[in-house]
Amino acid sequence: MAAADPPLPSDGGTPAPSPGVAPPAVRLPSPLVEVEEPALARYGVRLLLKRDDLIHPRLVGNKYRKLRLNLDAAAAAGHRTLLTFGGAYSNHLRATAAAGRLCGFATVGVVRGDELAGRPLNPSLAAAAADGMRLEFVDRATYRRKAEPEVLAALLDRHGPAYVLPEGGSNALAARGCADLGRELAGAADVVAVACGTGGTLAGLAAGLPAGAEAIGFAVLRGGSFLDADVARLQHAAFGGRRGRWRVEDRFHHGGYARTTPDLEVFADAFTALHGLPVERVYVAKMLYGVAALAREGAFAPGTRVAAVITG
Ligand SMILES: *Cc1c(COP(=O)(O)O)cnc(C)c1O
Repeated sequence: MAAADPPLPSDGGTPAPSPGVAPPAVRLPSPLVEVEEPALARYGVRLLLKRDDLIHPRLVGNKYRKLRLNLDAAAAAGHRTLLTFGGAYSNHLRATAAAGRLCGFATVGVVRGDELAGRPLNPSLAAAAADGMRLEFVDRATYRRKAEPEVLAALLDRHGPAYVLPEGGSNALAARGCADLGRELAGAADVVAVACGTGGTLAGLAAGLPAGAEAIGFAVLRGGSFLDADVARLQHAAFGGRRGRWRVEDRFHHGGYARTTPDLEVFADAFTALHGLPVERVYVAKMLYGVAALAREGAFAPGTRVAAVITG
């Protein structure tokens, strides 16, 4: 996938522009399209797809919304480097690398698992490296302590001053950036469904929705009940308190992060066949499956407009 991408502006040996946030061509508000989905239509429920996957070819989905205000803040503070954290398949690491390349920041990715250091990079890390991200692999014990002052100080010592983004990119500015998603859906949806990893997107989305609309976050990790506290904490940091109507559904993780089940595969393949939309498996498939399951349970009154956020 990365190999077919068009060259980026800073390719070809020209030095990266000085960090400023001349945003790359982004498509916002993202398109909203209604589809005829039998799994919902059977219950009189309407389905709209909020195509955040079309925001930018490299800064896909919610990742651009989460990074936008952070890039502004980093530039305003005079930083030239972004440093962040993630697992070997992290979409956030990849998006941060692309954002750095496009907006003129150097990037450092701290990757969980030092056993990966000597091995060939997987496609996700290879894409991040191709965008110029310097990768540092750390052992799992140290990785768990990444937010501790000494660990962070050692990293900054090795890589130089940097604007630090948390794992998954969810902080107060990320949540604020995602409030636009709720605003864009005002008047068009009664329920908004979004997949949750860290919950930053849900925190912002719910805050941006008008009163009366509800956001439902579908946890893709096993044991997603930590999300209730995390989303509340992010809303507090971003907006000063709890905002909007939202809740977390943790029944549709299908075994946990990046796990799948035959049932989920059948559902996602059928959705793709019917709507011509490749369904991203780690997050989006679980959310869509959960929406169909809730409709079957009678969770939505006939006539309800459900907007499903296609985050990737
Ligand atoms: C990162 C990601 C999410 C989860 O976002 P959070 O703000 O961490 O909850 C959802 N969908 C896709 C495709 C993602 O890459």
